[in-house]
Amino acid sequence: MTLRAVYQGTIGSYSHAALEKLFQARKLEAELEGQPSYQRVATAVVSGAADVGLLPLDSNIAGTVREGYDLLAQYDLVPLLELEERVDHHLLGLPGATVSDVREVLGHPLALAECGRFLGTLAAARAVPASDTGAAAAEVARSGDPKRTAIGSLETAKRHGLVSLAETIADHPEARTRFVLFAAPKAAAEVRALSVPGSRKKTSLVLATRHEHGALVNSLSILSNAGINLLKLESRPKLGKPGEHLFYVDLEGDDREPRIGEALAALRASALELRVIGSYDAAGGPTDVPRAPDTVCAPPRSADAPPAEMPASAAKNWPKASRPTRPKGTRVVVGGVEIGGDDFVVVAGPCSVESRAQVTETAKHVARFGARLFRGGAFKPRTNPYAFQGLGWEGVALLGEAGRAAGLPIVSEVMSIDQVERMAREVDMLQIGARNMQNFDLLRAVGKTDRPVLLKRGLSASLDELLAAAEYVLAEGNPNVVLCERGIRTFETATRNTLDLSAVPVLRERTHLPVMVDPSHGVGVRRWIRPLCRAAKAVGAHGILIEVHPNPEEAKSDKDQALTFEDFRTIMDDLGKTPWGAELEAAAP
Ligand code: PEP
Ligand code: MN
Repeated sequence: MTLRAVYQGTIGSYSHAALEKLFQARKLEAELEGQPSYQRVATAVVSGAADVGLLPLDSNIAGTVREGYDLLAQYDLVPLLELEERVDHHLLGLPGATVSDVREVLGHPLALAECGRFLGTLAAARAVPASDTGAAAAEVARSGDPKRTAIGSLETAKRHGLVSLAETIADHPEARTRFVLFAAPKAAAEVRALSVPGSRKKTSLVLATRHEHGALVNSLSILSNAGINLLKLESRPKLGKPGEHLFYVDLEGDDREPRIGEALAALRASALELRVIGSYDAAGGPTDVPRAPDTVCAPPRSADAPPAEMPASAAKNWPKASRPTRPKGTRVVVGGVEIGGDDFVVVAGPCSVESRAQVTETAKHVARFGARLFRGGAFKPRTNPYAFQGLGWEGVALLGEAGRAAGLPIVSEVMSIDQVERMAREVDMLQIGARNMQNFDLLRAVGKTDRPVLLKRGLSASLDELLAAAEYVLAEGNPNVVLCERGIRTFETATRNTLDLSAVPVLRERTHLPVMVDPSHGVGVRRWIRPLCRAAKAVGAHGILIEVHPNPEEAKSDKDQALTFEDFRTIMDDLGKTPWGAELEAAAP
């Protein structure tokens, strides 16, 4: 069966791109047809001229697309699945055109709303709503006028022979539009089968509350008492009904679940009006990689399942570190933050502390986007004596100041025995760098303190040697050691080191100590860090350590691997760590 699918716009619009991706991924034959308005998309499906339609529900920048919800409700359309399309808006113009000469910016109303801040900087330009992105670009190309521009993606530019005059112009670089694919109530079974049974569901509704004190709170408590998670709540005044509001609501779950069905019935009884648009498959969205289950701590499948096999060196060389000593695993608490528990802990900060402004700004940003510990080097183990050696104790003080201001405990490297005592007073966690993993006297010295220790794997150390090094700290009476895989030397030269992710499951089996991963030093190249952060979580690490700098090009050490604040935010988004509202706060002046 060839599906007939309709969307608003023309080829080159974001809706078209979202549909193409969906059908390609599902390996389905489909004919796509653009429509001039949202209304026409809905009626094409209602009339049977199309099998499915695509309507936007909201943009993470511009908010709810009221018409999307209203049309679905009005025609009793059946939502099937949600699609999230990342939109990368560029200002497109004719080759040779310049931003300073722009007089007109054509764009889909949603795109214009998403780029408000950028448009505000073009004092001489007028924003002109266009029916869609593709049509806006086509019009600019047709006119041949270098003063006219359009908002669209690079693909749109290519398609219409335009070039990008300014890139990533949306108010936030992670602009996303959320669409829903829907069918008519009597759609054929093949069409309904686009929604996959068993997938994670969302339910959308439009709610009108009475013009009474506490009406919204009552409605929300019905949902909350039923244990329903609210994913979205946006309101607008009901036109022509002063004081009454419509609420656009998304919930987690399927309205066929009795718990949700009953709550919606109660809601209907108490509200002025309730339109349940329906339940549909939630988009994968940002990949929140689940952490791999702990094979050792998981209950054995049968009572006589053999315990994990320990190498002979466990009992002989690192008995205190070996898993059977503490089968449930150690949780190391650093300034109130637990490493080794259920939470995947992100430790971030610059490679080196360079200035008050640099650490203050970095700490503020990483805290806002969900980092739990702030890390920066003040004593730097540099490969040659002429490279920046760190700010020393002044750096430690600046790190502490920045951490306190951002509410984050701090971690810093200690390089010699004579630094240990003072460092233990000034920081929350002592880092032993890769080059010192086998500096046994230093290990003994940190073992005598009561500070948690972050022990990095040596450049050419085996896991057995790493565990034996940890044993030095444990043997002195300090039980709080966190191990860190940070890449090892191999024959490979494409990456700075070879990040040995297989170390994680092996260590998790052999030791009760928490295990973290440092993808920054592991690969040493900014753009390769992001996928490895997800990978670290997926293989079962308890957290990651990453380097972030306000201006990587100017970093005094490890600049090639320093992440920008934006890179950091993307990674936190991937990991499902960005706290609610952080984007809004970050966007605030
Ligand atoms: C660091 O963490 O900045 C550092 C020097 O790392 P490593 O000891 O792993 O090289
Ligand atoms: Mn570094």
